[in-house]
Amino acid sequence: MTLQSVTVRVPAKVNLHLGVGPLRSDGKHELHTIYHAVSLFDEVTIERTDDGKVSVEVIGEHVADVPLGDDNLAVQAVRAVASLAGIDASARITLDKGIPVGGGLAGGSADAAAALVAGDALWQAGFDRRTLEQLASGLGSDVAFLLHGGTALGTGHGEVVSPVLSRGEWHWVLAVAETGLSTPRVYAELDRQRGTDPPAEASSADGVVSALRAGDVVALGMALKNDLQSPALQLRPNLGKVLDAGRELGAVGGIVSGSGPTVALLARTPGDAIRIASELSGYDVCRAVRRASGPVPGARIVA
Ligand code: ATP
Repeated sequence: MTLQSVTVRVPAKVNLHLGVGPLRSDGKHELHTIYHAVSLFDEVTIERTDDGKVSVEVIGEHVADVPLGDDNLAVQAVRAVASLAGIDASARITLDKGIPVGGGLAGGSADAAAALVAGDALWQAGFDRRTLEQLASGLGSDVAFLLHGGTALGTGHGEVVSPVLSRGEWHWVLAVAETGLSTPRVYAELDRQRGTDPPAEASSADGVVSALRAGDVVALGMALKNDLQSPALQLRPNLGKVLDAGRELGAVGGIVSGSGPTVALLARTPGDAIRIASELSGYDVCRAVRRASGPVPGARIVA
């Protein structure tokens, strides 16, 4: 049977540990990161067309910054699947964005992962996991993780992914900023801060890995670490207020997510997450507050 359209749901990620190593000769930084997929989702629908074009429509809140041409990572993913399958790329893509754009939550990479899965299903390419992972790593550092979801260690420049044991469910309050932060600018600020003395290697994630394994929320809150937090705070001093508010409200930990500016606050219980989210909304330190839990699965077909 020829499918006419496929819809894939894909989560956002937060980094529970983001150790940034030295700048490599290819211009990328060596990373040692713990990815964690949380229940904030985009839905990507790909429909067959016959005009030989790949078009994209974006719906959702604050989506003006999402490119509508070949810069869009979902478009690139659809083209990559079609090219490998040896067919002409002709499709209409709809991105229903629940993941804030430019927030350090990997929304663009999530759409790329979803579009790989959707394109593979729509055109019945039958690619195996490894092939999809290879396509993913050509599209961006976080894309391979968003095929898998869950909680995982990312090495290389983030594209080499292996699952990490995590006991139980973790409850997050996400403070979403008014405007996004450019990932390259945050890395450039990190390089500026490190000057001529960059670390020889990315820091280890052992603290986070043992807290996850033990299911110990307090230990996890204390172990959260992100090397991009200091440069993100330098570029957006207001994020310090969000972290302070989280501490005041009893979050067991708080961290800038990826390159920011979203701040992820870890709550001890689901009830605490509800209370922290509602009280944080009254602090007027961010544009929106969202609750999410993790880990959740990666890109999955829903229709
Ligand atoms: P990064 O993955 O670089 O860390 P981020 O998580 O901070 O980024 P994204 O939501 O992925 O934020 O958006 C970063 C930029 O990627 C956007 O400003 C936009 O120009 C570009 N982009 C390309 N494709 C998409 C997409 N499908 N959805 C959102 N942004 C996209």
